[in-house]
Amino acid sequence: MRPIVYEAPPTAEVAIRALSHPDAVVLAGGTTLFDLMKIDVVQSGRLVDVTRLQDPRLGAIVVDETTIRLGALARMADVAAHAEIAAICPLIPQSLNLGASQQIRNMARLGGNVLQRTRCAYFRDVSFGQCNKRIPGSGCAALDGHNRQHAILGTSEACIAVYPGDFPQALAALDATVETIGRGGRTRSIRFTDLHRPPGATPHVETMLEREELITGYVIRRGPWMKRSFYLKIRDRQSYAFALASAAVAFDLAGDGVVREARIGLGGVATVPWRARDAEAVLRNRRLTADVAQQAADAAFAGALARSHNQFKIPLGKQTLVRALLHAAAMEI
Ligand SMILES: Cc1cc2nc3c(=O)[nH]c(=O)nc-3n(C[C@H](O)[C@H](O)[C@H](O)COP(=O)(O)OP(=O)(O)OC[C@H]3O[C@@H](n4cnc5c(N)ncnc54)[C@H](O)[C@@H]3O)c2cc1C
Ligand code: SF4
Repeated sequence: MRPIVYEAPPTAEVAIRALSHPDAVVLAGGTTLFDLMKIDVVQSGRLVDVTRLQDPRLGAIVVDETTIRLGALARMADVAAHAEIAAICPLIPQSLNLGASQQIRNMARLGGNVLQRTRCAYFRDVSFGQCNKRIPGSGCAALDGHNRQHAILGTSEACIAVYPGDFPQALAALDATVETIGRGGRTRSIRFTDLHRPPGATPHVETMLEREELITGYVIRRGPWMKRSFYLKIRDRQSYAFALASAAVAFDLAGDGVVREARIGLGGVATVPWRARDAEAVLRNRRLTADVAQQAADAAFAGALARSHNQFKIPLGKQTLVRALLHAAAMEI
C-alpha cells in the first residue's frame, strides 16, 4: 500500500503551488485518475483536488450573445442538460451524452474529460514492458500487436494510441480556446487544437500544459454554423463504449444548399482530437450532395496509415463522416 496525501486547496494559486511538488497530480471527478491509480499506471502520492476551489467561474456555464463559456469544473451531465446550449449548438450536448455513462457524467468535469488518457491496453497494463507513453524509450507493443482500436491519423513510429474522448472533437470542430492559469497567476488562452500534442518521438508528452497549470475553462465563439451541427459516434455496442469512429460536424448552408463554412472534428481514428481541415476545404462553396460528402471524406482520410488490425477504420471513418454530413444537411433549422 502507498501512502497518499490529499489536499483540497481553496484557490487556484494555492493549488498551483501544491502542484509544484514533483509527485502531485490534479484530481477532478476522479473517473479516469482513480482507475489509473488502481492499475498502477499513475503512481502519484499527492492528490490536489480542484473541485473545492472557491471560484464560481470554474464551475459556471455562461452563454452570452457572442460566446459560450464552459468552466473546467462544470460537470459533463450539467452541460449536456443545458437547454439553451442544446438549442444553440446541438453538437455540444450530443458529444457529451454519447461519452461514458450517466453515472460517470454526473461525476466527471470538463477539465478532466479533455485530459483523459488513452485506452490502449498496453498502456493500461503495466505487465507490458513496451509502451513509449508509459515508459519513454521502451518501444510500442501495439505496432505489431492488437491494434484494432488504434489510430490511423496523426500516428508515429513511437505510438499509435487513439485519443478516446467525444466532447473534445466538438471543441476541435468549434474552434474553442482553452483558458488556463499557471505559475505566478499567469493566464493563457490556447487554441483547443493546439492543446494536445501528436505523439511524434515523445508520446509521453501529451499536451502543451505545464505541470503547474490548470485548465480553467473553454470559450466557444458563437457562429452561424452552430445550429446545423451533429455528432455521430460508431462503437462496438450501443451501451457505453469508446468510439471506433466519430464525426463532429457543424456547417453553415446558404439557402441554395451551398456550404459557406464547414467545421469537422474526427474521433476514434486519431491520436489527438482531430480537425479535418482538408475535408472542410472540399466542402467550402460546394452544394452538399452525397458525392461531395464522399469527396470530403476521402480528403479527410487521405493521409491515414493503418496497421494489421485496424484497416477497417479507413472505410468506417469515411462512412461515419459522410453520414454525419448528410444528416446535418437534412436537419430542419
Ligand atoms: C467506463 C468508462 C467509460 C468511458 N467512456 C467514455 C466515452 O465513451 N467517451 C468519453 O469521452 N469519455 C469516456 N470516459 C472517460 C470519462 O469521460 C473521463 O473519465 C472523465 O471525463 C474524466 O473527468 P474527471 O473529472 O473524472 O477527471 P479526473 O479523472 O479527475 O482527471 C483526468 C485527468 O485530467 C487531469 N485534470 C482534471 N482536471 C484538470 C484541470 N482543470 N486542469 C488540469 N488538469 C486536470 C487530471 O490530473 C487527470 O490527469 C469513460 C470513462 C470510464 C471510466
Ligand atoms: S500505442 Fe502508444 S500507448 Fe499504446 S503501447 Fe504503443 S506507445 Fe504505448
